[in-house]
Order: sequence, then C-alpha cells, then structure tokens
Amino acid sequence: MKKIISLVLVAVMAMSCVIGLASCGGSNTASDSKTAEVKELHMATNAAFEPYEFYKNKKIVGIDPEMAQAICDKLGYKLVIDDMDFDAIITAVTTGKADFGMAGMTVTDERKKKVDFTDSYTTTTQVIIVNEKDSKVKTIDDLATATIGVQRGTTGDVYVSDLKKAKIERFNTGPDAVLALTKGKVDAVVIDGQPAKAFVKKNKGTKILSEPFAEEDYAICLAKDSKLTAEFNKALKELKKDGTLDKINAKYIKE
Ligand code: GLN
Repeated sequence: MKKIISLVLVAVMAMSCVIGLASCGGSNTASDSKTAEVKELHMATNAAFEPYEFYKNKKIVGIDPEMAQAICDKLGYKLVIDDMDFDAIITAVTTGKADFGMAGMTVTDERKKKVDFTDSYTTTTQVIIVNEKDSKVKTIDDLATATIGVQRGTTGDVYVSDLKKAKIERFNTGPDAVLALTKGKVDAVVIDGQPAKAFVKKNKGTKILSEPFAEEDYAICLAKDSKLTAEFNKALKELKKDGTLDKINAKYIKE
C-alpha cells in the first residue's frame, strides 16, 4: 500500500512538474515570440493635410493616423507612420516600402490601375481658395484663365490640368500652395474641403468660394491583391458601426 501511495505521489509530482515546466516555460516562450512576431505595418502619408494628418508637438496626428491606429489595434499590428510627399505614396505602396497609404486619398480609376482601395471612410469635396481682396477668381468659371496652385499629384492637380488656358503651379504640399496664394503668385488654390478650412484659418485674408468643385471619396490604398485589404475592410466596417469613426471625425472636425 505504502509502495502504491509513494508511486502515485511520485507520478503526481512528476506530472505537476511537467505541467509546471510546460506552463512556465511554454508561456514564456509564447509571449516572447508573440512580442517578436507583432508585425509592423508601415503607413505612407503626407503629414501636411490638417485635419487628416499633420504635426502636433512633433507627432503626426489627425483622423487618418487615429483610424489607422484603431484598425491596427483591432487586427493586432504595430503601426509605423512614414511621412513623404503625396505623389510618392502610391509608389511606396506598390514597391512594398509601405504596407498601405492613408492620406485623405481620393479613390480614382487612374489610381485603381496601380493599387487596391478599401471601402471609403469619408466623402468630401474639392474647393477653391482665393484671396479675399481683388481676386481674379470669383467663380469656378474664372479658373479657366487663372494661375492655379495645386498640390502635385492630387486630384486637384488632375482636375485643373484639364483647363487648357489656365497656368498650373504645382507644389509639394498644400501649405506651400496657399503660401503662394497669399503672396499673390497664384490666383487660386484647388484643394480638399477640410484641409482648405484649416489653411484659411491660418492665413488671414484668404477665403473659400462657396461653390464646391468636385465630390470625392477617401479610402486607404494597398498593394494590388493584398490580403490586408479584406482585413482592413472588416475592421473599417466595425469601426464605422461602433461609432469610432464618427468620434474621431468629431474630434478633428468641429463644424
Ligand atoms: N484627396 C486628394 C487626392 O487624393 C488630396 C490628398 C492629399 O493631398 N493628401 O489627390
């Protein structure tokens, strides 16, 4: 009997030892490899586009970084933001330098030839910014013969490039285009509605013409056939449904 009890004891001890080792060693290994395995996702953006992406206290903030963070949190990725010129974003995505592009980027058929887009997360308009005083451009029609400032490679650039008699000045960022307007170097700037409001607020003597120019949808771009697109769409759908997108928009867009 004694023998049996001690045998059982030994067996129990051995088992608990094995279990203990397994759970102890196992969990260590699991968490180590988990930290090592958290995949980074690089987001390509152009952080001169308030309220979508801009610098605040040396950090890139805005609707896009917050939405991207919420998506990455949901999907278990670590978000890394890479700031670059707007017209470099699609190439960064197609060459794999970035995993996705998010930059108040409009869905266009031309871009769809190179990248895939997620479902849209915002609908917006292009608008015209002019100087309040003595502006040559008072209506959309006046753009036809004006000198127009745009951000290189944007849809604003594409639209005005159709105006054969207009002179187009292309800038690396929206703020550069608006600066040229305030200095009288261009007659108008064609740019997205929300950033336009932020630019006008910062540049006294400028205003937005009341007629909007074109309607557009913003979405996230990814490499063609990327497996991430479906994951992103699922996360996006949930973030729309649970009110996260509305909350982030309301934080950055006050009126
Ligand atoms: N929505 C415009 C585009 O996609 C401008 C975007 C931007 O300048 N960040 O071309």
